[in-house]
Amino acid sequence: MQIDQQQWKTVQNQLKEEVGESGFNSWLSPLKIESEENGTVTLSVPTRFMRDWIARHYADMIEKQLSGIAGTAIKVDYVIRALESSTEEVPGETPTPKPASSKNQPITAELYQGTTLDPKHTFDNYVTGKSNEFAYAAAQRIAESDDLAYNPFFLYGGVGLGKTHLMHAIAHHIRVNWPGRRVLYISAEKFLFQFIRALRDKNTISFKETFRNVDVLMIDDVQFIAGKEATQEEFFHTFNALVDMRKQIILTADRSPHEMANIEDRLRSRLGSGLATEIHAPDLETRLAILQKKADSLGMDLPRDVSMFLADRITSNIRELEGALNRLAAHAELIGAPLTVDFAKEQLKDLFRAYERIISIEDIQKKVADYYHLKIADMHSARRNRAIARPRQIAMYLAKQVTTRSFPEIGRSFGGRDHTTVMHAVRTIEDLIQRDHDLEEDVKLLESMLTNS
Ligand code: ADP
Ligand code: MG
Repeated sequence: MQIDQQQWKTVQNQLKEEVGESGFNSWLSPLKIESEENGTVTLSVPTRFMRDWIARHYADMIEKQLSGIAGTAIKVDYVIRALESSTEEVPGETPTPKPASSKNQPITAELYQGTTLDPKHTFDNYVTGKSNEFAYAAAQRIAESDDLAYNPFFLYGGVGLGKTHLMHAIAHHIRVNWPGRRVLYISAEKFLFQFIRALRDKNTISFKETFRNVDVLMIDDVQFIAGKEATQEEFFHTFNALVDMRKQIILTADRSPHEMANIEDRLRSRLGSGLATEIHAPDLETRLAILQKKADSLGMDLPRDVSMFLADRITSNIRELEGALNRLAAHAELIGAPLTVDFAKEQLKDLFRAYERIISIEDIQKKVADYYHLKIADMHSARRNRAIARPRQIAMYLAKQVTTRSFPEIGRSFGGRDHTTVMHAVRTIEDLIQRDHDLEEDVKLLESMLTNS
């Protein structure tokens, strides 16, 4: 099997969807396919620093996407190849900042202009439900007052659940209502990149000034700072300086401060010293509402059954849900075809296949049975003993999350159960996840074992 350029483009687009524009441009866009042999794809990267970074943060994601498109497990290897064109900007390797007229603006101008804010990410465009209403209310409170009620405000949750959106919403609101307050929004990756560049250019003083001269500092995805000692140290000092100066700090991450490994205890406790709020995966009702809102903004007529179909299949990532809807809108318009469930199935085949190829219900049953020291037969049996029934419900829940099987299909795979039993299981686990921390951990662990294997 050869991955051709077209397929590589598709993989790149999917990666861009997953990590966002700025992460993609900073790290993944320079990757090129170098060679391919026996299920190993070798990618070239311009520098050692980038290779280490990519291997550390993106390797799983890249392998998963490549495997999805190749239809077989693919391993990825890296070689370092300097870029031919010396004009291209490479993180960690650029010797001089470019003049303001070029595409790459100097650090301060770029930051103060806040070029990375998405105008659509406003409070008005944010749909709330059980999963995010608390985070939403807290974000609004921060945007509307300057009494530092919650400092720092730490927003955490899984990929594509609306953390960046909420953060931008706060920034927009402050900019409109307090034009004098300086808001600085930056991804932790960029923060890290600029810090490294400042170190290399022996320019850390202006780096520090840039960050300390703001009223509201927003750093997105701070988990990227974990494990980077020098950056952490700098971050910690900047952080303390800002708190002492009574500036608002807003952070997001994919997990709570308490769950972040590889960060210093004093930083962890400082991060968690204000308000830490989780955004959970949206429930069905919220997913439907988000789809409806999106469809309205696209001027699109979204039939109820298509909306149900999408909300039912794409459960744990709002970005993906949105992406699917955008694709359908574009295709339907292009082809002039009516938007039906069959049409959606057909158009989004590749999206669903990416999961399906990799994980089967049998895999899930086996993993869950192993994890709880049960027999696979217990997954099919009629026994109702809690010690067996609960893991079985978890397996059904996971089957819903990580495969594209419908409720009836899942029911059949679990000893011929009715689809309402599966629905009940999914709801029960969704509910328990909110209340039972141990169970939540178990489910997360199982899910990551399944999706990363
Ligand atoms: P995260 O930063 O948590 O990975 P994003 O904020 O980038 O997620 O959200 C992914 C996409 O989903 C964005 O386009 C965002 O506008 C959209 N989105 C997320 N949550 C909501 C919501 N509650 N209502 C409307 N759109 C949302
Ligand atoms: Mg984000």
